Amino acid sequence: MENEKLQTAINTLKNSGVRITPQRHAVLEYLLTSMTHPTADDIYKALESKFPNMSVATVYNNLRILSEIGLVRELSYGDDSSRYDSNMDDHYHIVCEDCGKVVDFHYPKLSEIESLAQRVSGFDINEHRLELYGKCKACKTEKAVQH
Ligand code: ZN
Ligand code: MN
Repeated sequence: MENEKLQTAINTLKNSGVRITPQRHAVLEYLLTSMTHPTADDIYKALESKFPNMSVATVYNNLRILSEIGLVRELSYGDDSSRYDSNMDDHYHIVCEDCGKVVDFHYPKLSEIESLAQRVSGFDINEHRLELYGKCKACKTEKAVQH
């Protein structure tokens, strides 16, 4: 794993004055190492053997704190289970409509849309959102095999 990223995140946590509990550390480490955009439940299941006394509520609480500090971003797709992403760089997401997998997609050129929108509307533009939907490779293969 990229230890440097974890160390940077831990330092941010320390500087924010938030206490670093073993659970908080584990949630952060899991998010930094998993490239899967897990739900709170995914994180809970991945860590429950290591922390048998930890509840899903604790996971949510830690995710909220990490979001507030700016180490983690919450992604909601209209259903009740938010995904969490520790990659805070500008990027977009492609969502599989069959299995719910979320993968990163980079298209830096699109940042131009903000200055254009600002120019034509007179707004101060702070951010923009874009999500792409489709069927992932694995789900395509699965369907092909069934036929
Ligand atoms: Zn899929
Ligand atoms: Mn992402």
